[in-house]
Amino acid sequence: MALTGLQIYKLLPKTNCKKCGFPTCLAFAMALAQKKIELAKCPDVSAETKAELEGASAPPIRLVAIGPRDRALEIGNETVLFRHELAFFHPCGIGLRVKSGDPGRRARLERIRDLKFIRVGKEVRPDLVALEDTSPDAASFAAAAREARDVSGRLLILMTEDPARMKAAAAPLKDDRPLLFGATAANAEAMASVAKELGCPLGVKAGSLDEAADLTQRIAKAGVEDMVVDTGARTAAQALIDLTQMRRLAIRKGFRPLGYPPVFFAAGAGALEQTPAAAVAVAKYAGIVVVDETDAWLSLALLTLRLNVYTDPQKPIQVEPKVYKVGEPKENAPLLVTTNFSLTYFTVESEVEASRVPSFILVVNTEGMSVLTAFAADKLTAAGVTKALKTSGIEGQLRHKKVILPGYVAVMSGALQEESGWEVLVGPREASAIPAYLKTIWKS
Ligand code: SF4
Repeated sequence: MALTGLQIYKLLPKTNCKKCGFPTCLAFAMALAQKKIELAKCPDVSAETKAELEGASAPPIRLVAIGPRDRALEIGNETVLFRHELAFFHPCGIGLRVKSGDPGRRARLERIRDLKFIRVGKEVRPDLVALEDTSPDAASFAAAAREARDVSGRLLILMTEDPARMKAAAAPLKDDRPLLFGATAANAEAMASVAKELGCPLGVKAGSLDEAADLTQRIAKAGVEDMVVDTGARTAAQALIDLTQMRRLAIRKGFRPLGYPPVFFAAGAGALEQTPAAAVAVAKYAGIVVVDETDAWLSLALLTLRLNVYTDPQKPIQVEPKVYKVGEPKENAPLLVTTNFSLTYFTVESEVEASRVPSFILVVNTEGMSVLTAFAADKLTAAGVTKALKTSGIEGQLRHKKVILPGYVAVMSGALQEESGWEVLVGPREASAIPAYLKTIWKS
């Protein structure tokens, strides 16, 4: 936990020598607490104090990177318990488990490679393959690890409790910096030695929070700090308990032994049982969530949830306010109005696309608010839509002057018609009714 100015002051030399540029040690301590100055500016601070202050200013949850430096997955380094207090910054990794001895391994890896989705204009996909060692020998596990990387194109978690087999599999892939999972009470120092030698992050496999805290301290003493922690939770209820306690202890109490991102392995028969547990862990507070099933709907559900949890609540995701084309609209094509809240825009766009009626969509700047919210906040107004109609250049692309307004704001149609001079048609309330509207009412 960060120290206050007074706590820092007690650790300084208290000579008021001014070498740091501040008139007193107290002034320097206050500036240091506010992170306006670096500790190195005081030349007289002892090595012991330096270590203590640097430790106190470290993030409560360590930032851990998995994968090659140019495309690593960074997890941890969160600073709040609740998203509305600030934001969550490092989206958890989504992983899919593959058994190295599975005869259908390659087909499974190909299926994982092809799991890609577009959500609110972004490509999202699972980040990791968790390769569990079920091979008959070390060489087979190592070969499976290379195949998992090459075929899936995803980052790797290598899962074995045998340090020698881990080293054999991870050494040829050390530039890919896989997560080495499982340091247990029985092999902690040996696994730490492999992770240290290869420069890879290490997964701690415990059976409880207490055991996890003991293990991370042993491993830190062995010289490895980049860890993720499995508390042994396998159900939604246990994940919620363990992961919430970890986050609370790290952030509220500054308890370093549990200040690492947690990894959660969802258990249960099939996707229907694993999905709720995995969803709980995405929301609260996993650094990595691993599921067994490769059903596209399961990955899409988790990725969508992650996208929602890890957006900044104070900055709604937005699209650029302008005219968008769906298909190849001509001068007699319909023109629909919507807001620049990403979810609203992409919902409207996908329904217009589904209608197969080439159209223009005029996106009005509502500061990222959806239709009704923007209307209530006076961000979607007749004056605003009129301005967008005039400045967007859409007038020159159409032979008609008809604009389709979202049904929820039908009440502003009269004002808009009067202010803009355009004929205002009231469209459907729900985007799902757009295809029927365009194919019937518009075309008539
Ligand atoms: Fe105090 Fe160090 Fe600044 Fe001197 S240089 S005033 S000892 S904080």
